[in-house]
Amino acid sequence: MTPAKRKITVLPGDGIGPEVVEAALAIIQATGAAVEFEKCEAGARAFQKGIVTGIPKETIQSIERTKVVLKGPLETPIGHGNRSANVTLRTLFETYGNIRPVRELPGVQTAFTGRQLDIVIVRENIEDLYAGIEYMQTPGVAESLKLISREGCEKIVKLAFAFAIAEGRKAVHCATKANILKLTEGLLQHTFEELAPQYPSITSKHILIDNAAHQLAMRPEQFDVIVTTNMNGDILSDLTSGLTGGLGFAPSANIGNDVSIFEAVHGSAPDIAGKNKANPTALVLSGAMMLRHIGEGKAANDVEQAVLVTLEGGLRTSDMIGVDKPATTTEFTQAVISNLGKTSKLSPPKQYTKVDLPSSRPGVNVVEANARKLNGVDIYIESDLEPKALASELDKLATSSPLKLEMITNRGAVVFPASERKVSLVDHYRCRFVQRDPASKLSDAEIVSLLGAVGGNYRWMHVEKLQEFDGEKAYSKSQV
Ligand code: NAP
Repeated sequence: MTPAKRKITVLPGDGIGPEVVEAALAIIQATGAAVEFEKCEAGARAFQKGIVTGIPKETIQSIERTKVVLKGPLETPIGHGNRSANVTLRTLFETYGNIRPVRELPGVQTAFTGRQLDIVIVRENIEDLYAGIEYMQTPGVAESLKLISREGCEKIVKLAFAFAIAEGRKAVHCATKANILKLTEGLLQHTFEELAPQYPSITSKHILIDNAAHQLAMRPEQFDVIVTTNMNGDILSDLTSGLTGGLGFAPSANIGNDVSIFEAVHGSAPDIAGKNKANPTALVLSGAMMLRHIGEGKAANDVEQAVLVTLEGGLRTSDMIGVDKPATTTEFTQAVISNLGKTSKLSPPKQYTKVDLPSSRPGVNVVEANARKLNGVDIYIESDLEPKALASELDKLATSSPLKLEMITNRGAVVFPASERKVSLVDHYRCRFVQRDPASKLSDAEIVSLLGAVGGNYRWMHVEKLQEFDGEKAYSKSQV
């Protein structure tokens, strides 16, 4: 009896999506891998039908059944609902880890040709600013919440090390902006430094994200795996794809607890859609990552090797630098198929083992604190008063409260008590009230009462408690 074929949900997507997905499917099928495809709709056509998420119910049901998706790019059309179908998929199936590998490819000319780049960005995929929690706090001031959890950090760090081990890699860098964002980006740095000793075979190092960008442009060969937060990873991975030939060559995997989604880093490139010009390599290599993920390691190696052999043979698509007579998408695909079974002279197959994916803890994940203390409150208000006049008014409003005004900031800079710094003011102030007697116990009711007094005179739009966990202040100091 022939073994059952593994079902894969396929989303052809928008723009160049259907062309590059067809290319990948033809190549995968030609490997003889035991897979079967369920094509489903998502993206522009779904939006046009009025499905606000861009993902029809039938598509979700298929993904729930198959657990594995090969996906073309999805555009976010303006005027047909305001959500990104890509973000919906990532959040719906909690694909927390985005793996974006790039490597030097034969015949693909770049500024770094000959330096054997082989770098993987492991990007946290669902938290950070991309959760999209945003507010206009006043008509002129916008806010975006950057939420980073210990659970999210642990999972992405473990995934980065597990991936490094599975690929026989030597080093993992953790790139953050922890020098400025001590609590959010700092949480990833601390989690990384705490977990790294569990992986003694891998060298680990923290690097600031701005320096990482600089080093990637100067000496990219020093990097192996880089783990980072969502937005930093988004930017850094486009940079690394640029180092090795551009978006046409950059594959990716979105790894989840239950479902994993494989797609090119590039978008729908509407300018070249339907012209049989698109480079299918990124989607084809994403297909190889998918094959490896489902245990079809030989087919994955065959696909990668056939792409390398095709490039070694000199075939070029129009996106590559210095191309006279570009191959069409179809010609490139046919060449890869005819090269299946051949081995690259320059990059023979690597040895891979299965990625030991971090397990997910059921239920609500809690980080315990043995001691908690409430120190005060930051009240955000809208006012056109100058800071000194505002402070005098707020002082009066707090006279009967156990809280006293400690400082006022404007866009993070202290404006009361007066500082040396010249600040251009906007009508958006953060007013910090702290306990008059730090030894006493502050209650929520006392904070609410102060908020009532302040709110009676000023528009407030945000309140943040000043807490202490196990003796550590759980809030940032202000920039002087
Ligand atoms: P893009 O689609 O990646 O295209 C940018 C440019 O890169 C294209 O105009 C094209 O440049 C080149 N390019 C990208 N992929 C190529 C390929 N396979 N072969 C040859 N050239 C390629 O980025 P965008 O224009 O910013 O975004 C377009 C749409 O895609 C938007 O609606 C966006 O929301 C969506 N998007 C989706 C995803 C996803 O589904 N994961 C990711 C990113 C963007 P030339 O002008 O040189 O031909």
